[in-house]
Parts: sequence; C-alpha cells; structure tokens
Amino acid sequence: MATSLRRTLVQFTFMQLFSTTAYFSGCKFTLSQPINLYRKFAADYIFNGYQLLAPQQTIITDDKGCIVDIMPVQDAGDEIQQLDGLICPGFINTHCHIELSHLKGSIPEGGGLVNFVQQVMAQRKATEEVVQQAIADAAAEMYQSGIVAVGDICNTANSIFHKENSPIYWHNFIEVSGFVDGAAVKRLAEMEHVYRQFKKMDEQRLTSDNRQTKAEHSPTVYSPHSPYSVSKKLFQLINEQTAGQLISIHNQECVAENELYQLKTGGFLALYKNFGIDISGFENTGLTSLQSWMPYFTHQQPIILVHNTFTSQADIAFTREYSQSQKNSAAIYHCLCINANLYIEQQAPPINLLRANNCAILIGTDSYASNKQLNMLEEIKSIQRATNNNIPLQEVLGWATINGAKALQVKHVFGSFEKGKQPGIVHINHIEDMQLSAQSTAKRII
Ligand SMILES: [Zn+2]
Repeated sequence: MATSLRRTLVQFTFMQLFSTTAYFSGCKFTLSQPINLYRKFAADYIFNGYQLLAPQQTIITDDKGCIVDIMPVQDAGDEIQQLDGLICPGFINTHCHIELSHLKGSIPEGGGLVNFVQQVMAQRKATEEVVQQAIADAAAEMYQSGIVAVGDICNTANSIFHKENSPIYWHNFIEVSGFVDGAAVKRLAEMEHVYRQFKKMDEQRLTSDNRQTKAEHSPTVYSPHSPYSVSKKLFQLINEQTAGQLISIHNQECVAENELYQLKTGGFLALYKNFGIDISGFENTGLTSLQSWMPYFTHQQPIILVHNTFTSQADIAFTREYSQSQKNSAAIYHCLCINANLYIEQQAPPINLLRANNCAILIGTDSYASNKQLNMLEEIKSIQRATNNNIPLQEVLGWATINGAKALQVKHVFGSFEKGKQPGIVHINHIEDMQLSAQSTAKRII
C-alpha cells in the first residue's frame, strides 16, 4: 500500500482523536481568544492513585494537564468543572499487543491456549493497510477510554508508524521466541532488526519538538514470549541482553505449560508436532514452568509476569526468593488480563491469592486476538465480578494507575495526582457508594 494512503487513513483517525480531545478539553484556541492557563476539576469522588481524597477537593492543572495544585473547592475560585462519579489518573495498560488489533473477532472464544496460539500464528498475516488502520483505531480507543501508557509486546515493527507520533506513552517489549536451543542465536538475531527500528524511533522522539507528554523516553527491551516458546539457551541469551532492564513474559497461562515442564506431557506436544518443532532436546525439570525459567535471569531484571492464571502459592513464594536473591531486590509484578483469560481459557486468575501475598498487581488488556475491547475499566469490572465485588474499588484503581506507572518506571509522570506530574485525568460515571455499575464508562478528560 502506498505510504501516502496509509498516512491519510491513519491521520484520519488521529483527527478524530484530537477533535474528541479538543471537545473534552475545550482547548481549541486561536490567537484572538483568551487562554485560560488553569483548568479545575471536582467530582463526587477523587482517587489520586493511592487513596480517595476527602470530599470537596479540586484538581488544578495547567493547559497541558500538569498538576499544579490540589485544594479544597472553597479555595479554588470559580470555573471549576464539577463531574458526577469519579475522577482518577490516566490508566496504565501494562500488557497489550497493539500489532494484533486486526485479529479482532477472528478467533473463537473458549478454545484453550494451545488452540489459540495455533490460530494466532496462522492468522497473523493481513495487508499492511488493514494492520495499520486496526492499530490506529485500537490506539484511539485506548486513548479515549483513559489509557495514557502501555506496555506493548512487539513481534514486528508494524506499530512504529503509529507510535512515532502517538499521544500515548509506549514501553516496547521486543518479543523473542524459539523453543529449540540450536536456533537460539538465530532467533535472537532475527529480532535484532525490529529492536533497532524501535531504538531509532525512540531516539527520534527524544529529539522531537512534538512531544506530548513529559515522559520523554519510549524504552525498547528484549523480552521472552513464554516458557513454552523459549528454550533454555534463548532464555540465557535474553538474560545477557537485558541486564537491569524491565522484562515481560506470559506466565502460567494454562495448565499445559506447567505440565510441559513437570512431566514433558500435555497439549503443547501436539502444537510442536503440528509446527514440525523437534523438542527431543528439551529436558523437563519436574518443577512448574515459573520455577524452571526464572533462575535463568541473573542480572537484577524487574519482571512483569503476565496472566498467572495457574500460579500457585509455592510459585509466588519462589518469586519472592528470586527477587531477594537479586541485588537491589528486583521487583516482580503480576499483571492480570482477566478478560483474555476468560476469552481463551474461561478461567479467572487467582486474584485473591495474589492479594493475600501482597503481590504488586497490574492490569493489562492483552490484544484484540483475545479481547472484545482494549478498555481498562472493562478489565476492572471483570475483576470485580470475579471476586463478587469484595475488593475495594480504590484498591483495583491503584493497580490500574500507580502500580502500572511504577512497573513501567514512569511514576515521575503518570499514575497519581501529584504536583508536577502529567498523569492524564479519567472520568468514570455511574458510580454509587464507590461501586461500579454495568453502565459505568471511562473517558479521558485531559
Ligand atoms: Zn499477551
């Protein structure tokens, strides 16, 4: 497809995006109009990233959304925008694959992970036009529903065209896979050209005058896909490439993954056979998958464990030991993608087990291959449903805001209402007694 047409299609979505933003923010200024330097917001509830504020508070920002002050309504003067429901900082979506957005609705629900992986591999191909438009549409949806930063898994450079000028902050995990040791060096080398393209984009963003947030950096780092798709040798190569850097991995998404490592049996054997992958060199460890691969990381990497649907108490204890064994106690994060788990495996992750262990919990939408929307509030609603509304809403909002900002190492900009930050402001409606309702929606207002 011609670049100009591709650009037009994507720009169209950008225009839609910004006209909506302008509508919410009222920021269509011309030189002849007076410019209001401050914007003021009050709501029934204000969650600041850590806790609910006392009633009758006002968030004051400059025209770029930087938090200038938080003060009682009676001291904040006039022109306060009063909102029903709740306002909170912008959401941090810590697990997504924006490049798979064209797979929306194409994979049937409930087929299990092994079947799902085969279908994604078979259906990845689409025209560039379709792929680019789907990326632009999905990113616009995320922006409008309050997402300000994304931990995004990249197998290709397809999303660079969009990310170059995106108003969202992207942390790009360049995903490496290959389950045969003999091909490990080659598989890493194959991803190097993708890695370099993202690095180049990051350098260009750093020097651009068009930066839209205070988060100047758009990091790029290698990450392993999953325990069932990365060999021991490849894990070790990724370990050497990622010293001290945040990595992300799909973890214990299905029973078969543990079975593979414990017994060298289960559903993945058929998948390897279908794709002609010779696993005769794979030796099972007798341990769960997590306890098998985590020791390969030895360079203080903070790790985002994604899914954790079949993670046990013993696995969580193991992650603690890993963390403590690393210099500076490398942080371990548990990212929930509940709607993807329900879509693929029809099983919710062990949310209360993670809470009982004081795990640092995050929320991700995963991709359109396994979700009907890329919407953090819909993830929060599903978490609430799966736990019978027993978790205080402010706790789950903390997972979606400050915890995500800490994990992606952008808490100096995002995740909470604190002076000097530029976290975005999200408005959630239809809230009663600090409970979401089925009608609740989230919209970014700044
Ligand atoms: Zn994923």
